[in-house]
Amino acid sequence: MKQIAILGSTGSIGTQALDVIRLHSDLFHAQVLAARRSVDKLLEQAMEFKPAYVVITDEQAAEEFKRKYTGSAKILTGEQALCTAAGLPDVNLVLVSVVGVAGLAPTLAAIEAEKELALANKETLVAGGKLVTLAARKHNVLIRPVDSEHSAIFQSMLGQDRKGIHKLLLTASGGPFFGKTRNELAHVTLKDALKHPTWNMGVKVTLDSATMFNKGLEVIEAHWLFDVDYDHIQVVVQPQSLIHSMVEYVDGSIIAQIGNPDMRLPIQFALTYPKRLPSPSHEFVDWSRLAGIKIAMPDTRVFRSLGLAFEAGKDGGDTAAAFNAANEEAVRAFIQERISFLSIFDVTEEVLNHWKREEIHSIEDIHAADARARFMAEEAIKKAEL
Ligand code: NDP
Ligand code: MG
Repeated sequence: MKQIAILGSTGSIGTQALDVIRLHSDLFHAQVLAARRSVDKLLEQAMEFKPAYVVITDEQAAEEFKRKYTGSAKILTGEQALCTAAGLPDVNLVLVSVVGVAGLAPTLAAIEAEKELALANKETLVAGGKLVTLAARKHNVLIRPVDSEHSAIFQSMLGQDRKGIHKLLLTASGGPFFGKTRNELAHVTLKDALKHPTWNMGVKVTLDSATMFNKGLEVIEAHWLFDVDYDHIQVVVQPQSLIHSMVEYVDGSIIAQIGNPDMRLPIQFALTYPKRLPSPSHEFVDWSRLAGIKIAMPDTRVFRSLGLAFEAGKDGGDTAAAFNAANEEAVRAFIQERISFLSIFDVTEEVLNHWKREEIHSIEDIHAADARARFMAEEAIKKAEL
């Protein structure tokens, strides 16, 4: 029985990971369930999955949980508890599926404890890619990607000679605004931006898909996961989200991973690697219903997020951490209807234009860059306010 810690169990990835665990309860047990403040959902999950530990980082929510909970799990509270949970001796595999830069410290804790690691949280690698990959190498921990594109690349590399890699082809659905002009995007609302054509995901990543900042973050994530330089990473649009990404080799061969858009597939593979278990949806790609696989190029003038990501990634140091933090703040301001959709691009660009890059030596350096970028973003948001 593999004992799994799910950090972010109440979210989109977390609940789908629990679906996979439910399907294979003979192989996996959710030893730790962790969330921030979704008390009722966590209560329901704790009663069903009977974890040994429940983590609630928000202290107030933790008090409410303790009042209502009748099970026997040990309850850990506070932000630090995520790191404690990641290092527990009776945990074999840690799934990091919290959202945002909060994933960084528990990821490092899981690596230092030499746990099996399934990483969904992309912000961790964007902000802390250097620290995380150095630690993973030192502790000989393989980072199993959960993000569908990176899982696809990971799968397309199995059994291949790494030296033969020419290029990573990262696919994007294009999101709800694919093909739109800047003018057409001037007045889009939060509701419009939350309508994703192919994937059903958490709010932040859905909005990042609408702006294509998600793909920008994924370019940087791919750079760190697979140690490929930015000039050999290309984004292509695949509106059906069937080709989840591809690897081009030096001889011109391209190996792709194809499947229905269902996150339970990459989640399951990260839990079972190198083995495969039956499809969690019991469904397979129905080729007879496809009119053809579509591929298009992204419009980088409208979706400036892509160019900004490549620039931030190539700049190195703490610039990608700033890119991530500025985007998070801009998205938050858009959700609060303080700024327009297009201002999300402007705010992030403004922060990067004035960014003074510094080297990263520690997690404190990343948190300092993160805070500095958020402060700069807030200034830019005030200027862009509706
Ligand atoms: P959600 O917003 O749906 O869920 C986030 C989860 O993390 C919730 O359980 C939330 O708890 C918890 N959480 C957030 N902050 C903290 C914190 N400070 N301490 C403890 N728990 C916290 O996000 P998603 O599941 O969509 O995404 C998770 C990560 O996976 C993101 O980094 C995203 O980019 C990545 N990802 C997601 C995909 C998807 O399909 N959803 C696809 C590829 C990558 P609470 O409910 O209490 O707030
Ligand atoms: Mg993805």
